[in-house]
Amino acid sequence: MKIFVTRPIPDSGIRLLQDKAYEVVVNEEAKNRAATKEEILVGVKNADALLSVLTEKIDAEIMDAAGGTLKIIANYAVGFDNIDLEATKQRNILVTNTPGVLTNTVAEHTFALMISIARRIAEADKFSRAGMYKAWGPELLLGMDLSGKVLGIVGLGRIGSRVAYHGVRGFDMKVLYYDPNRNEDFEKEFGAQYVANVEELLPLCDFVSIHVPLLDSTRHLFNEARLKLMKPTAYLVNTSRGSIVDEAALATALKKGTIKGAAIDVFENEPEITPELKELENIILTPHIASATEETRQAMSKLAAENIIEALEGRTPPNLVK
Ligand code: NAD
Repeated sequence: MKIFVTRPIPDSGIRLLQDKAYEVVVNEEAKNRAATKEEILVGVKNADALLSVLTEKIDAEIMDAAGGTLKIIANYAVGFDNIDLEATKQRNILVTNTPGVLTNTVAEHTFALMISIARRIAEADKFSRAGMYKAWGPELLLGMDLSGKVLGIVGLGRIGSRVAYHGVRGFDMKVLYYDPNRNEDFEKEFGAQYVANVEELLPLCDFVSIHVPLLDSTRHLFNEARLKLMKPTAYLVNTSRGSIVDEAALATALKKGTIKGAAIDVFENEPEITPELKELENIILTPHIASATEETRQAMSKLAAENIIEALEGRTPPNLVK
């Protein structure tokens, strides 16, 4: 069995695959950059499994370049919007992702962003390094408390509900949420309140945190009109997928004071970032690192490998994307 891994990943999964005596080919060229299409087209030849990461668009051409041997694409991510699912269906290729193992890590990063933007941490760090700290000041770099505020969750799935948990249990926040699937058990346990749609939710929140998958229905969910529904004192946090927010509209909203601030880990055209966003003080930008801890990236590696092993040994992989 040949496994092609499009980019070097932490070794726990690679070792599992090697223990099975599979031929594991890792595209070492792409250590600090995305793999090129050419590298994938060559590497996937005769592969039984493709272990892909989200920087690569996996399309029909790549699937066909395997030459009919490809049985599974194991994506090293919980999102799978980089894979052409229609094309995999037509070819009977299984697709898996790595849900669950990154939930806590992404929720923690979401909170890191929320606290950082509300308490102006990045701005304060720059200020201190620039030698601007001349005296303690009663009105120096004032931010906003999280405690007692309203946290709006858009998408109360694995990550969204963990963020809500931190908000309620850790910061005494009141949680409101919108998700097409209502979760009454969660509401009871955390005193959370369901709101019937995003439009009604946004005007009620001090913080809005986005945790939906990228789908046709969620692309530009946060457009100019919806950003205008937020309070001018509110903060937007996005650790889901960049294209869920219209970046140009966000830049305008931040400039005009339609909203107070934003903190985002994902971008519409990664690794490009809309230049206006980089000019603004009231936004924090992190380079898609919400799941980037040693523990979690190893766990993702192991889970991707387990999915491959299950599929190649003729069993149903645990994280089949349907
Ligand atoms: P999940 O499937 O458990 O949760 C997604 C939730 O969104 C579901 O409850 C679903 O019902 C809901 N949803 C779908 N469409 C919606 C809509 N239009 N409005 C409101 N809710 C809607 O997924 P998860 O594990 O919580 O991950 C969420 C997303 O986070 C992933 O799809 C991925 O794109 C992103 N993610 C990003 C990073 C990162 O590094 N920044 C890491 C992991 C996941």
